Amino acid sequence: MKPKSRFIPIAVLSSLLFPSALSAQEEKKEEAPKQVLFTDVQIFNGLDDKLSPGNVLVEGNLIKAIGKDVKAGEGATVIDGGGRTLMPGLIDMHSHLSIHEGMLDGRDDWDQMATGAISQERLRSYLDQGFTTARDAGGNVQGLAKAVRLGRIPGPRIYPSGGFISQTGGHGDVGRWNDQPGSTNYLSANGFSYMVDGVDEIMKAVRTNIRSGATQIKIMGGGGVASEFDPLHQVQFTLEEMQAAVKVAADSGTYCLVHAYSDESVNRAIDAGVKCIEHNFLVTEDTIKRMKKEGIALSCQSIISLVTFANPEQITFFSADQQTKAKKVNTGASQMFEWAVKHDIIMVTGGDMFGVADGPRQAVNMTKMVDVGLSPFKILKMGTSDAAKVIGWCGEMNPYKDAYPDKTPEEKAEQGIGLGVIQEGAYADMILLDGNPLKDIKVLEDYTNNFKVIIRNGEVWKNTLK
Ligand SMILES: [Zn+2]
Repeated sequence: MKPKSRFIPIAVLSSLLFPSALSAQEEKKEEAPKQVLFTDVQIFNGLDDKLSPGNVLVEGNLIKAIGKDVKAGEGATVIDGGGRTLMPGLIDMHSHLSIHEGMLDGRDDWDQMATGAISQERLRSYLDQGFTTARDAGGNVQGLAKAVRLGRIPGPRIYPSGGFISQTGGHGDVGRWNDQPGSTNYLSANGFSYMVDGVDEIMKAVRTNIRSGATQIKIMGGGGVASEFDPLHQVQFTLEEMQAAVKVAADSGTYCLVHAYSDESVNRAIDAGVKCIEHNFLVTEDTIKRMKKEGIALSCQSIISLVTFANPEQITFFSADQQTKAKKVNTGASQMFEWAVKHDIIMVTGGDMFGVADGPRQAVNMTKMVDVGLSPFKILKMGTSDAAKVIGWCGEMNPYKDAYPDKTPEEKAEQGIGLGVIQEGAYADMILLDGNPLKDIKVLEDYTNNFKVIIRNGEVWKNTLK
């Protein structure tokens, strides 16, 4: 190592004086965009029910070219695909990256520092499972989203909803039984969940979320199975209150998603202008038809409804009443998914919370949909191009705007956000894997062995072919 000079060279000195101007120039000189070339791959592009042979060239964070004769420049990383499948990175649409072991996690045992640090485990698990994008469905993750976006920590792209918008006693009420109006609990004080009543309070909470980077808003619109204060049948927020949240979101060009099970709560949310329903387990076929007609998306949680609640007796901390509710949800969900498939509504996959300890939850949440009659192709679209379409409803709030640099704004609007697809100009978020998921969707479950290369934003997260 050379001894450090005590003199400061002129260039360095001026870069200290004029940091932005010079560093931009220097960046240009030093960094030709990095290239990664995948050769001999079978491409599932996220849109078509087939594999197409070819090479794929990544330059910087985007896909530069696709074709049989595509070659890389000097110094590129070349990955011989060996005839394996190359598919878009997956997108989970119902994540809780800052909630690790249930809704109250972080209220009593951890402070926000520890909660954030523990979230790292979840972020890495997502990348390992091939999930390169996550729409967070509630919790204080705006800071994590920013840190990932700026390259400070590894993780999937995060589209945060910010703190839950819940009424007092609603599904996002994380206070204690004897709390009184006006008392503040730790999770609310830290932007994890807002207990708000009336139009004014709701508008303020939604604006607070958007101010800190929420790309869409999550409303708690009805009762849940495990929550403390809200029975399953309960409809939450008046129409006027819910419309207030939708209006504030719309003023920023974005949309709302809602936690709702019952027919009445789902329909009230749609009446208010909500675009995406989470859970939806207890609706009628007429409501599914309405969702089809009005282009409302269904975010599917197959694990909780079809697996966990199939045998609620095994959930030891559930009361008899909670077990009855869980059974009801299990029966309802099987029927609801059948109708959703029959009427071909927009479906996306959202694995919800838990998971690092109990296995590859986000991946299995997709593959489990085979049981309700979904084809592997439809399942793959749920986790790629269809998910990206719904994410794109956040409009100008989307912080990831690099895709399709050669297109006009009008063409871009037509094209989508460049996630969930393998296309020239799209983001380089991809998985190279053994097996053909269009034939056997279960190959996604054993990601440890089957996923050979995972690349996010042009950067290699995993490569076992070296
Ligand atoms: Zn959730």
